[in-house]
Amino acid sequence: MTHSYLNPKCEIRTNSRGGCSVYTVVPIRKGELVSMWGGTIVHETQLDRSMQRFTERVIQVDEELYLLTAEKKEPNDCFNHSCEPNLGFTGQIGLLAIRDIEAGEQLTFDYAMSDGGSYDEFDCQCGMPTCRHKVTGNDWKRPELWVKYEGYFSPYLARRIEKLRK
Ligand SMILES: [Zn+2]
Repeated sequence: MTHSYLNPKCEIRTNSRGGCSVYTVVPIRKGELVSMWGGTIVHETQLDRSMQRFTERVIQVDEELYLLTAEKKEPNDCFNHSCEPNLGFTGQIGLLAIRDIEAGEQLTFDYAMSDGGSYDEFDCQCGMPTCRHKVTGNDWKRPELWVKYEGYFSPYLARRIEKLRK
């Protein structure tokens, strides 16, 4: 029994460096639920950045609140970032297809959809023409992403964006 739900149309692939990714086995239609994370909700002050697999296990779900996934690695820890993703948020812990997805595609979301702080910043090599190259906790402030991901931001970021727009 895992703590999270993963659509059975998906599979996990691992690479030689110990990394993992989520791929489709069969096509997934736009709007279909792909993943729902389970775990423990922790306050910012309880986060231990020195823990193993910190950035794989932690996702911000509201102001000062984070979801921490299970200590034992689960398939839902394997979603990678892309600057041209095929998944978006539905609620705080759900991911759905934002377009029709073919069999054999990697499933990704843009970490700008959920990251409102600096806990997971990195150089991106997603290879897309729209790649931002540096993914930061401030990317959600980019107005071009507000348009691109309308309706797909985590709810707490959607609230922040609504305020900035006024
Ligand atoms: Zn990129």
